Order: sequence, then structure tokens, then C-alpha cells
Amino acid sequence: MKRNSLLIIDDDPLICKTLENIAEKAGFEVMSTDSAFSFFSQLELFNPSLVLLNVEMTELNGMDVMMRLAELHTQAKLIITNTQQRGHTERATQIAADSGLRVLGALEKPFSAANLKYLLTLHLSQFDKTRNTSQEQIEPNGSDWTPTLEDIIRVVENDEITLNFQPKLHCASGNIIGFEALARWNVPGRGHITPSLFVPLAEQNHLYSVMTRNVVRQGIKWLAQLNKTEIAGAKPGADGQPHAYTLAFNISTNALYDLDMPQQFCEICNDLGVPPALITLEVSEPDSIRDLQEFINALERFHGFGFRLSLDDFGTGHMAVRELVRTAFKEVKIDRKFIDKCDESAELTAIVNSCIDIANNLKLEIVAEGIETQKIQDLMKSKGCYGLQGYFISKPLAANKVASWLTQYYASASTRP
Ligand code: C2E
Ligand code: MG
Ligand code: MG
Repeated sequence: MKRNSLLIIDDDPLICKTLENIAEKAGFEVMSTDSAFSFFSQLELFNPSLVLLNVEMTELNGMDVMMRLAELHTQAKLIITNTQQRGHTERATQIAADSGLRVLGALEKPFSAANLKYLLTLHLSQFDKTRNTSQEQIEPNGSDWTPTLEDIIRVVENDEITLNFQPKLHCASGNIIGFEALARWNVPGRGHITPSLFVPLAEQNHLYSVMTRNVVRQGIKWLAQLNKTEIAGAKPGADGQPHAYTLAFNISTNALYDLDMPQQFCEICNDLGVPPALITLEVSEPDSIRDLQEFINALERFHGFGFRLSLDDFGTGHMAVRELVRTAFKEVKIDRKFIDKCDESAELTAIVNSCIDIANNLKLEIVAEGIETQKIQDLMKSKGCYGLQGYFISKPLAANKVASWLTQYYASASTRP
């Protein structure tokens, strides 16, 4: 059963196509059908990990399909949709759960791409949690707990999202040059939960501006403090002065397009005495290349205030070199799914090499993320990466653990050959 496989049953071809497009963009392999017969044969042959079922189709009885799924003890998770009557989805969801089906969530009419994307991300994250033990254990205890909108509004408004900081290693000098701020939500009794479970929910409910501002203020305050702390063994910069650490934030497209955000970030920097040049903003490519000019304009607004820009998840999007060349990026971060096993796969090696070629030609600094072994670290250094991040160097650290981690890092670096 593949984590990213989705089977859709809906008798409206337009809805099928729309849902299919959204899911494919989110990296899913999708099959869709409008017939119960072909649905059940694909269920067996394709063996999807996720099924999307319209319970109120005009030509077919969706509830019958659902009951048959329950009889078959289907292991796939279920998203229930409804194109006819509002409110019916909730009842159908209850019936499905009572029949032993594993319901992931529901999509009510009118469909929103953001809601479907959220459910797809949630599915991948829950799937990985049950299968992948090498992932950082930061998801909630209790298998199917998911935050509600009320939960997320409360934590965002009460500024309860905290940050962990993952060090970034400079290949040439072996110094730690900065950190990436990663959002965390500590749910009492459940532990830290991963941003993939709450960031999309906050985003789609217009909480992104409050969340982004809070996160950026918290991170910059922490950086100002760190840069004032004397850390034993830290190496001076090229100018002989203590070297100032940099900090990177992940900025969603919504926040990127918010016209007030660059000025607000700048005010936070001024208030806390941190030059914008020490702040990197990591952004991902827009969903559609049609938005390219808007994307470039937004990047320019931040660049104009002196912030450094990094293209996150490089290699997963569709931006061509001619488009990349027009942007204000200084850095690309090669996605960890390519780095992870690139020593074992010729295909991954080819992808990584071509990412490196493009970045070198455009004189962009290259950061490889997801370094988990010495072997991959050495390989990425030998390919000319500027910086490295990954569990091999350090997992993301709590704010109050960073100074002692740096002291230890420099102490062990001084004894390395
Ligand atoms: P990202 O920016 O690509 O961050 C890298 C993710 O990879 C982080 O997951 C990090 O903990 C994980 N990671 C780093 N090194 C390794 C490694 O060696 N092995 C493995 N298996 N994983 C590694 P995390 O913290 O769960 O964050 C996931 C994504 O959530 C981030 O991906 C970023 O896109 C988003 N995110 C995190 N914080 C924020 C935030 O404050 N705002 C927004 N909008 N998005 C955020
Ligand atoms: Mg990032
Ligand atoms: Mg990334």
C-alpha cells in the first residue's frame, strides 16, 4: 500500500478531474471512477491508502459503496465528500466511523483546494507516523488525534507556538553559521506535534499573519540574545569579531504575499537590534507558474528591506532556470527526500547533481538538508555544497539548549583532526 495513493469515486467528471489535479499536485498517485464495479476492482488492484467517496452521487448510491467498504474491512483511510446537501456529510461520517471505517475527514460543498490539501498532508503525516520510525518523534500520542480549528485559533492567538532551532553547518570552515527556526506546538499530554499538522490549518483559516509575526518576533528575540552570549570555543568571523549567527524562517505563500509583512519584519528587527541581513526567509515555489510575476514582486519586497531569500524544497517544484534567474534568491535548499538516499540511487544522484549544476550556474549558495550519515555529509561536501543541515549534525534543538550544544560542538571540533 503506497502512502500517496488515492482512489476517488464520484459520478461528476468535473469534480473528479478537479480533485484529481489537486491531489496529483500534492504528489499523489490518483485513480478515479464513476462506477461501483470499477471502484471495487481498483480498490483491490491499486490498493490505495486513501479513498475519497462522494456519499450523495446522483447515479450511484454512495452509502451502499460505503457499507461495502466496511464489509471488506478496508484499511484505506476515507475522506467523505458530499455534493448535494449541506450537513449530510456529518451523519455519513458518523455512520462510517460506527461501521469500523477509518475516517480521515470530510469535505463539504463548496470544495476548497486548501481543505483537500490539508487532509492529504494530514494523511501522509499519519501514515508516516505508523510506518516510519526514522522520523523525528514529534507527533501526538494517540493515533488519530487531530487539532480542531478552535485549538489552533487558541494556540496561535495565545502565542503558544514555540520554536526549535536546527543548526546549519558551513562546509568550508566547519563552523555553525546559523539556524533554521521550526515551529512546534506542545500539546499537554500529547507531546510536540509536527508543523505539518497545524501550519496548513492555521494557513487556511487566515491565522497565518498572526502566526508568522509571532514566530518571527520570538525567533529574532532569541537570535538577539544568542548573538550577545559568549560561547566557549566559538570561532571569530573573518573580521576577527565574534561571528553573528543567522536565522532562517519558513514563510508560507500567504505570508509572502501579505503586503504589510516586509515592513513588520523590519520593525521587529529594528526593535530587537538585529540586522535584516542576518535573517533568511525560506519560501517554496508557488503552486502555479502563472503566479510567477506576483511571486517575484513579493520576493523583491522582502529583498528591498535587506532580508536574505532561500528557495526551500528545491527540486520538488517546476520552476525553470529562466524563471529562477529573475528572482532575488541567494540560496537554494535541496529537498531532503533527494539527499536522504542519494548514495544508493542513481536516479536521486542525477537529481541532486542537476540541482547543484543549476544553483552553481546561477551562483546560488546550496544547502543540503536531511543529512543523516557521515557518508552523505562527506558526499554533499565533495559536491560543493555551501551548507548542510540534518540529524547527523543535530536535530532541531529547544531554544534553551542551543548555547550548550554550540559549546559542545566547538569543543569536539577542536579535537577533530
Ligand atoms: P522544511 O522547511 O523543509 O524543514 C525541514 C524539515 O525536515 C523539518 O521538519 C526538520 O525537522 C526535518 N529534518 C531536518 N533534518 C532532518 C533529517 O536529517 N532527517 C529527517 N528525517 N528530517 C529532518 P519539521 O520541523 O517537521 O517541519 C516540516 C515543515 O514544516 C518545514 O519543512 C516547513 O516547511 C514547515 N514549517 C516549520 N516551521 C514553520 C513555520 O514557522 N511556518 C511555516 N509556514 N512553515 C513551517
Ligand atoms: Mg525550511
Ligand atoms: Mg525543506
